[in-house]
Amino acid sequence: MTLRILNLEPDGYSPQARRILESCGEVIDGSLSRADLLAALPGYDVLITRFGHHLDHELFSRATRLKALVTATTGLDHIDLVAAAEKGIAVLSLKGETEFLRSVPATAEHTWALLLALVRRLHAAVASVQAGQWARDPFRGHDLAGKRLGLVGVGRIGSRVAGYGLAFGMQVGGYDPHPASRVSGVTYFDTLPALLAWSQIISIHVPLEPATAGLIGAEQLAALPSGAWLINTSRGAVVDESALLAALGSGHLAGAALDVLENEAALQAGAPHPLVDYARTYDNLLITPHIGGATFESMAMTEVFMAEKLKAFLSV
Ligand code: NAD
Repeated sequence: MTLRILNLEPDGYSPQARRILESCGEVIDGSLSRADLLAALPGYDVLITRFGHHLDHELFSRATRLKALVTATTGLDHIDLVAAAEKGIAVLSLKGETEFLRSVPATAEHTWALLLALVRRLHAAVASVQAGQWARDPFRGHDLAGKRLGLVGVGRIGSRVAGYGLAFGMQVGGYDPHPASRVSGVTYFDTLPALLAWSQIISIHVPLEPATAGLIGAEQLAALPSGAWLINTSRGAVVDESALLAALGSGHLAGAALDVLENEAALQAGAPHPLVDYARTYDNLLITPHIGGATFESMAMTEVFMAEKLKAFLSV
């Protein structure tokens, strides 16, 4: 019987990766709603997805013939891994693919784009020109050179960001209890509070796990020097969003830039969010819709890698 592969996020999918999938079976493209996916799942052996769906127990209970779930992501918090394992469904992802991932720059570059936009107030300046103004005075920004950049998590992405910081003449510090390797030029701190107290800008690059959920809360934000900036391109739930809002509102934080929020599925469905509401009114909070990894080059690389990984899995 021909293997049936459902690609849930086919828009812009790499033609090279598609050819590899087609060598494994019949590929069906379908940007399905949750209800349609629930109905369609019994007909498929393989599911290709990124973050479009929260793959939970209810979905897996319908996946009667599903052998593999392929997700070109490192974070797996959108998948109920216990439920998948119970159903004998293999989850193929980028997690742990250290050597390949080292070649993928998109999220580190986006972190840097957010940081520069934040300290130079780029979005507000662009909006003012679009509104027909030509005013320099309101848009005085800050240098990065000489500032202290603190990295929470110095793994794949944190290490790249460290390199950018050093190239910009910043002092770079890091806290990571289990670094795979150490970046030359970075000062490693023994504790998170010590790093926070030192950092003028903090950038977060840890995985979301039970131990890191809410890692940056009111106490940690208070430990930052007054007037610090915060960047988060890791996962929304690593930062306590109410505490972040309070720190922005009180002026303790000068600004923040986020590519990730805690309940992105609800946002996709149009639900309101206090941080998004704040960002509509105040220009010291920038939010992008989880586009850190979303460059044409990086996405094509990861799609081809994952299609090859599926092919190898199926041929075992
Ligand atoms: P990685 O596994 O290479 O590095 C994470 C590092 O965090 C590791 O070195 C680990 O030891 C460290 N760490 C774990 N717990 C910690 C703690 N409590 N305090 C400090 N350090 C801790 O991961 P990565 O590939 O660099 O990814 C980092 C984050 O970026 C993940 O949350 C991932 O989901 C996210 N990510 C986001 C996007 C996006 O589009 N915004 C894209 C890719 C990855």
